[in-house]
Amino acid sequence: MIFKEFTQAVIFLSGFTLCAVFRIGVTVSAEMLTFSVSSLIMIADYSRGRREAEPVTRMDETGMRKALEEAEKALAEGEVPVGAALYHGDELLWADHNRREVSKDPTAHAEMLCLRHGAEKLRDWRLKDCTLYVTLEPCPMCSGALLMSRLGRCVFGAADPDAGCCGSVYDLPADPALHGHTLWTHGVLEMECKALLDRFFSERRPEGVNQ
Ligand SMILES: [Zn+2]
Repeated sequence: MIFKEFTQAVIFLSGFTLCAVFRIGVTVSAEMLTFSVSSLIMIADYSRGRREAEPVTRMDETGMRKALEEAEKALAEGEVPVGAALYHGDELLWADHNRREVSKDPTAHAEMLCLRHGAEKLRDWRLKDCTLYVTLEPCPMCSGALLMSRLGRCVFGAADPDAGCCGSVYDLPADPALHGHTLWTHGVLEMECKALLDRFFSERRPEGVNQ
């Protein structure tokens, strides 16, 4: 996407320069300049993604502590230690952890369980006034679910360079084609979130556990 916009901007800027040099049509060259500038603005917007610039709040730490409690439970159950907690304002709607192994369900990620049960409790599938705290950056499935539930905000601890879709591999909430409104921020209690995952994989990898 960025490459496409960048290419368009370069082509039209080149066109504008040629028109200006050879004095070919004032209107055409002005349109080319406008188009290339708007393309560059789009690149800047897309690069910013949906990442929040606002500072982390005390509530963010409270929410992430709850998610970490859940991640500890997952670790004790032999699951990849990812936990999540869904809040409506400061009210906890649901907290859960990864249950893929125990439930034999590939969709039983902590985020999916929180969105499903939290929406049931709220009696509304639209979660625009809710914040989801999760210890690991959401995968493609969960990032999609954030958008489809119209979640207001997602806060995650550790980034996932292999599958994360809130800024690492991709920034799904920022894709303008999807018209999403979910803001995300990361790095809250990042070291603690990452330490749990490192512990799990250092202990389990020799047995061939496949994340
Ligand atoms: Zn997921």
